[in-house]
Amino acid sequence: MPEEQVSRAAETLSKHILIVEDEPAIRDMVRDALERVGFVTSVADDATSGYAAVRDHRPDLVLLDWMLPGVSGLELARRLRREEQTRSLPIILLTARAEEEDRIKGFEVGADDYVGKPFSVRELLARIRAVLRRTAKVGDDEPIEVDGLRLDPVSHRVTANGQPVRMGPIEFRMLHFFMSHPERVFTRSQLLDSVWGSQVYVEERTVDVHIRRVRKALTPESFDRFIQTVHGTGYRFSREA
Ligand code: CA
Repeated sequence: MPEEQVSRAAETLSKHILIVEDEPAIRDMVRDALERVGFVTSVADDATSGYAAVRDHRPDLVLLDWMLPGVSGLELARRLRREEQTRSLPIILLTARAEEEDRIKGFEVGADDYVGKPFSVRELLARIRAVLRRTAKVGDDEPIEVDGLRLDPVSHRVTANGQPVRMGPIEFRMLHFFMSHPERVFTRSQLLDSVWGSQVYVEERTVDVHIRRVRKALTPESFDRFIQTVHGTGYRFSREA
């Protein structure tokens, strides 16, 4: 994997956008635009793989094309709204349809917003940011605690069963990112995008080095078990064995 340049705005830090779109030109254009401003992305080209990607990656927002081959984007939106785990997942519908009736139908299935094709990248980014702001969870600075492992984003302290844990700034950011996104699998590339900050050139195997350091720091109280290798994919933070 080549080194890559990652630039970001603070606002987009760690946000993961799933793009479900069957037209490759639009999909690639949107993905490139989102990654350029620092979003982490994944893509799917139909509703079935889109649904699987929601389950596997737990995105923060879904850009969902209305007209997909097979199951429509509208059907997928309906399904995501029905299910407990994805009920509040922000959805922006992308569509060539512009009639008022279709727009209403989009909101009826619970889409948070609606962007008509053709759209400008700038407009799309503005809509995404607006929806993310509207749906943002409060308390991003709140301490996170999982079974005795506690991370305080304000004081930058980590304790394990009350014992202080020493780690470097990258390990701290990595652990913070993992603890903020439990049970999700991240590729090395996604971890690079989310943890390393702006304008850096880092190789993917560097991720493994820092994963080892995080685990080592957590080993005395056995919390290294939370940082799990998902073979062939990447890593996840999970309290489940
Ligand atoms: Ca389409």
